[in-house]
Amino acid sequence: MILNSLADRAIRREAPSRAEALAVLSDEHDLLDVVAAAGRVRRHYFGHRVKLNTIINMKSGLCPEDCSYCSQRLGSSSDILKYSWIGAEEVAEAADRAVEAGAKRVCLVASGRGPGDRDIARVVERVEAIKDRRPQVEICVCLGLLRDGQAARLREAGAYAYSHNLNTSEENYGRICTTHTFADRIETVRQAMAEGLSPCSGAIFGMGESDEDIVDLAVRLRELDPDSVPVNFLIPFEGTPMGGRWELTPTRCLRILALFRFFFPDVEVRLAGGREIHLRGLQSLALHLANAIFLGDYLTSEGQPGEDDRQMIADAGFTVEGLDEQTLPAARHDLVALRRRGAGTDLPSNA
Ligand code: SF4
Repeated sequence: MILNSLADRAIRREAPSRAEALAVLSDEHDLLDVVAAAGRVRRHYFGHRVKLNTIINMKSGLCPEDCSYCSQRLGSSSDILKYSWIGAEEVAEAADRAVEAGAKRVCLVASGRGPGDRDIARVVERVEAIKDRRPQVEICVCLGLLRDGQAARLREAGAYAYSHNLNTSEENYGRICTTHTFADRIETVRQAMAEGLSPCSGAIFGMGESDEDIVDLAVRLRELDPDSVPVNFLIPFEGTPMGGRWELTPTRCLRILALFRFFFPDVEVRLAGGREIHLRGLQSLALHLANAIFLGDYLTSEGQPGEDDRQMIADAGFTVEGLDEQTLPAARHDLVALRRRGAGTDLPSNA
């Protein structure tokens, strides 16, 4: 049966063919058969562990970019919180609370096209404040497009990962944003990787993309070889061009997640924004596909209470991954060679 073959090959880290990928998204195979096959891949690499991540929005709203899905975009009339940089102490306290609630990774996010050097200095201070109190926590930074040297400063401060989503296919990109390009995004992910930050890059679905777009995006993301792939489902904020857009169903979301597990068998597939409103009663089924979720609120919208998430995880037979457990399988973990030579060290580069 094709689904068994897909799962076997995913366990060997082989990608689906285009025809197989499109079949997963279609109704050619029964949904529960698709979830069972992709769930076998998830269990092979991640067991029954669920990693909890939390978002801290350090600077909210008033972005000059025009990403049409984003409530913080240029011209957004969404009634969101808008504020400039919150202080290092406030960030560290928020991280403390999240870690005590089970979070293993803290995602530090700021709105904007990309950071200036003063912004990087601010983020360095906030990363160090968290690391002083919680040395084990993984810190992922998400600040938009990077310029030369910025990723290295973040890594030296103790950041572990950098997050920058590709969001949608290259073909579809011009329809969701005009102020930067798909290529700009790829370049930033590559810069972060080159400096030894663990690459996190994913997608947002429910923005008018076709099945072909979904497969195109999965292929391009796989070429980038990220360690972590967040899967967002559009939160259609009123006051943005995507307001009122409800094109996803719970079953569609599960098929997309299954497809991403086949494409990213040993990579963290993170169920991200929009899970509550689009998966609804099927959220716990998604735990058989994704191995990580966000705990608590999102950037500008509220998430399900942490207590409900922890209960859902336990009820579905999963466990929260501990701070001392390794998320990525050993083989992939070994591929992430954190740079300890060249710029910023006393050692020559390997050029
Ligand atoms: S996604 Fe980021 S760059 Fe785009 S409008 Fe929102 S905050 Fe700005």
